[in-house]
Amino acid sequence: MNTSYTGIGMTSQRTRMRMVERLRQQGIKDEIVLSVMGEVPRHLFVEEALAGRAYDDVSLPIGFGQTISNPLTVARMTELARASAAQGELNKVLEIGTGCGYQCAVLAKVAKVVHSVERLVQLTAQARKNLRNARVTNARLRHGDGHAGMPTEAPFDVILLTAAATHVPNALREQLAAGGRMILPMAKGIRGDEQYLLVIDRTTRGFIEKRMDAVKFVPLLPGTG
Ligand code: SAH
Repeated sequence: MNTSYTGIGMTSQRTRMRMVERLRQQGIKDEIVLSVMGEVPRHLFVEEALAGRAYDDVSLPIGFGQTISNPLTVARMTELARASAAQGELNKVLEIGTGCGYQCAVLAKVAKVVHSVERLVQLTAQARKNLRNARVTNARLRHGDGHAGMPTEAPFDVILLTAAATHVPNALREQLAAGGRMILPMAKGIRGDEQYLLVIDRTTRGFIEKRMDAVKFVPLLPGTG
């Protein structure tokens, strides 16, 4: 056994548990979400130079002007995703904005399968590598513009966007299963710098929208790169 590796592993396990305690104090109540946040090795999703800060209460740069969301935001969105399902059992989830793949890895622990779309080809490749390192096997990544969703895999129990939209893309609404839920950061205000989480439930009587916590995300951009 490689003792130095085990040493790092134990340190990050302890740091991860401190992060979980913080999430509990910050109001995360779903025990499954807390335990998943304690399992997923967040340090494997950031650059080595930043690994020491991986469990801090901050978002971090992941290259190409993009960021990995802070742990509270990831936990909060996952909690909202799970709360939509009967007994918390999610079948198919669609994520828009794979980034480094961390939110995808967390979702993969609470869903049967996660499809995730990323517009930047380099980040898609990096996320594939990160998810392999973290031994996540039920995530399917695709390079493309998330505005179109993934019609071939629809309908989804949950559609989660990790980049801020100024309007709800129609294609995504249509790809939501009956009883399904979309969770997205909405940008408002003159400069689009005022953001909040929007939850949209698809019921038999139509779509019901609820405005939630204030958040801060990079913008949802058109096209691919
Ligand atoms: N969930 C990510 C957060 C990434 S930041 C994580 O855990 O790391 C948001 C990501 O959304 C960026 O990588 C950005 O390139 C991507 N993005 C922005 N607009 C997009 C679009 N239209 N389609 C797909 N991805 C998009």
